[in-house]
Amino acid sequence: MAERKLKLATTSLAGCFGCHMSLLDIDERILDLVSLVEFDRSPLTDIKHCGPCDIGLVEGGVCNAENVHVLREFRKNCRILVAVGACAITGGVPALRNNVDLWDCFREVYQYEPGTKKGVIPNDPELPLPFDKVRPIYEVVRVDYFLPGCPPPADAFWELVTALAAGREPKLEAALLKYD
Ligand code: SF4
Repeated sequence: MAERKLKLATTSLAGCFGCHMSLLDIDERILDLVSLVEFDRSPLTDIKHCGPCDIGLVEGGVCNAENVHVLREFRKNCRILVAVGACAITGGVPALRNNVDLWDCFREVYQYEPGTKKGVIPNDPELPLPFDKVRPIYEVVRVDYFLPGCPPPADAFWELVTALAAGREPKLEAALLKYD
């Protein structure tokens, strides 16, 4: 009987998609990857909701109410949840705004910067409620693995996913552990 492919989901919360780009930097090994795993919710598939999965890769920190919703959906559905990159692990670059009053941030972006439409701060009920601080994802859900880096190198993604697919612990050599 053919072995079942693992299901893998990815999402970007408060992140820049750089971690997703680094995952794609595995280049032609992407063909090996798709023989090992099937993608569920991911910007790569454009599936909007995460179904039951084996591995969930989460890029980005938590900066608004929608991030919490997506993250909890991932935790509920993913057997193994991985915090990918500095933003997911510590809040990263988006958390630089944590020392600035949120209202001041909005005014700087929407009212003082030239080119924004009439200086109006968006206030549509469909927009997610922003939080005053950007938080690492472990403050919201349990995390099984942390893959550091901004972004983590492609080889680190490769080792992580292939190890988990093979049912072994990932072994990340020092060269694959980036803290910048
Ligand atoms: Fe982008 Fe770096 Fe954050 Fe990844 S860790 S989402 S590359 S800023």
